[in-house]
Amino acid sequence: MSGKITFVGAGPGDPELITLKGAAALREADTVVYAGSLVNEKILELAGHAEFHNSAKMSLDEVLTILKRDYLAGKMVVRLHTGDPSVYGAVGEQFHLLDQAGIPYTVIPGVSSVFAAAAALQTELTMPEISQTVILTRDAGRTPVPEKESLELLAAHGSTLCIFLSVSDMEKLCRKLLAAGRSPDTAAAVVYRASWENELIVRGTIADIASKVAEAGIKRQAMIVIGDVLRKDGALSKLYDSEFATGYRHHKFRGQTAVFALTRQASLKAAEIASGLSDAVLFVPEKFADAVPSLHTSSFAAGKFGETLDSNWRNYDAFVFVMAAGIAVRHIGKLCEDKKRDPAVVVCDEKGNYAVSLLSGHIGGGNALAHDIARITGGQAVITTASDVQKLPAFDVFAEEHHCVIETPETLTGIAAAVVNGEPVEVEMSARLFEANFAGYPDVTLVKERTDGLILVRSGGSELRLHQPRFVLGIGCRKGITADRIGEVVDAVLEKAGFFPEDLCAIASAEVKREETGLLEFARKMNLPLQFFPAEKLNAVEVPNPSQAAERNLGIRSVSEASALLAAGENARLYVEKQRCGDVTAAIAGGNHGS
Ligand code: SAH
Repeated sequence: MSGKITFVGAGPGDPELITLKGAAALREADTVVYAGSLVNEKILELAGHAEFHNSAKMSLDEVLTILKRDYLAGKMVVRLHTGDPSVYGAVGEQFHLLDQAGIPYTVIPGVSSVFAAAAALQTELTMPEISQTVILTRDAGRTPVPEKESLELLAAHGSTLCIFLSVSDMEKLCRKLLAAGRSPDTAAAVVYRASWENELIVRGTIADIASKVAEAGIKRQAMIVIGDVLRKDGALSKLYDSEFATGYRHHKFRGQTAVFALTRQASLKAAEIASGLSDAVLFVPEKFADAVPSLHTSSFAAGKFGETLDSNWRNYDAFVFVMAAGIAVRHIGKLCEDKKRDPAVVVCDEKGNYAVSLLSGHIGGGNALAHDIARITGGQAVITTASDVQKLPAFDVFAEEHHCVIETPETLTGIAAAVVNGEPVEVEMSARLFEANFAGYPDVTLVKERTDGLILVRSGGSELRLHQPRFVLGIGCRKGITADRIGEVVDAVLEKAGFFPEDLCAIASAEVKREETGLLEFARKMNLPLQFFPAEKLNAVEVPNPSQAAERNLGIRSVSEASALLAAGENARLYVEKQRCGDVTAAIAGGNHGS
């Protein structure tokens, strides 16, 4: 019986940075051929009983001889490389010779030193607006590099450079970077033995890194990273920009979702969808439960789909069925009651090409969920509700999204029908709400500006009355904070809590912040009045999250929550409890508008 050859990435040095699969291969190994000084010998302890060969002292032929011999003798052979085998691991020639000999092998990846270095530097190698490309390369030394890949040419791109095997002549390397047109003040760092006990980090710029590295005495076993991504004050990642919707952020649907599948392929797609949604449980047939990579999974026995669905129908805000629409329709038909109670339902094919909003598209959020799913799968949302298709305003959605109380639910349908039929619509609401939501619709006219929280919508003889509480944003902040920083935190808080800037009527804080220029500027930018409250008033308010630090420093138990509650008026309650993000706290309270 023949054995098995496995190439394993040992990781950058720290013995805990080998993969679980790599460690398992070592535990089974009879023979280990490891790549010299950059493989931590502690990792070899995993293969306690094996025979070890250090390939640093061997020729390629000698390595191959051992691999082949032990393979043919039926042994488990591990060829252990530092970092990941595929970068500067000289595995290509070994693969080639094994292929020629007709000997099979598998490869288990590892954590490359480039990533251990990035981790040590606590940097992102790809920062929006600075560099979206990483070049892994080496300088020409004893091993030449192809002419078109000379550092002078590669560096000219301005992308992040991670340079292996080249720390021995930093002077020459930096000269090449400058010759490529990189500015001398471009950030540069060198990480010696990343993730080892004697790891050493040197930071500087292209102008001074060579001398700093010489001073530190680093001559080998180091990663060179060049690029302004090393400056963390670069552009904020667009990923966190509230305007920027990626598959895994900016969920428009809020609520708990059950995702059902019946076949193996559909179960895998359903797992992908469930893990992309903010709050979802996956339901798959028992026999596929082990195959799906999902944390929150329930399974049902063969033939029990219908029963499982029936008993869960009232437990979730939405259902996603990754299956033929017919199966879903036949099952949910008997469960549907009315549009204010029914959960949202979206059906998706098992390739994720289409996400069809089937039920409760508006109030229930089915359309939003279909859009979310389409973003996750890269497919297309299929929406059939008329107002969306005709790009008309939907006041039921508006009411839901802006936390309004619907005082006349019986007129919702009449208004919706009038809107879809092209009747003109007259509204009364705050100018902020109108501007942000309806200014682009030619058939909707603001006939009266209101400041009392009432929202009136008239069309085709129906009148819809909504009421929006007086929402106030309470802010606490450190001294000297900038308006931009406050803006950043507030954007994130609003987004997470499902509020829009136009929902806010005022900003509130503590009296001691009256001269805080960043806060004043932020309020001006938001175009909102600012209200301040003295310590004794703030301290008289019961809040869920008082702060001992604020009490010590300012003599105030709560700034954001208490000031928001005070400014929100009668019957105020917290809609968003205190959110802390570094040097800013924010909370939102809503109450009655004063007369
Ligand atoms: N396959 C390995 C690279 C092998 S080439 C990997 O994926 O990391 C050897 C070069 O890798 C060294 O000269 C050095 O530039 C880099 N290197 C390997 N381990 C390192 C570590 N722990 N810290 C910094 N650089 C390392």
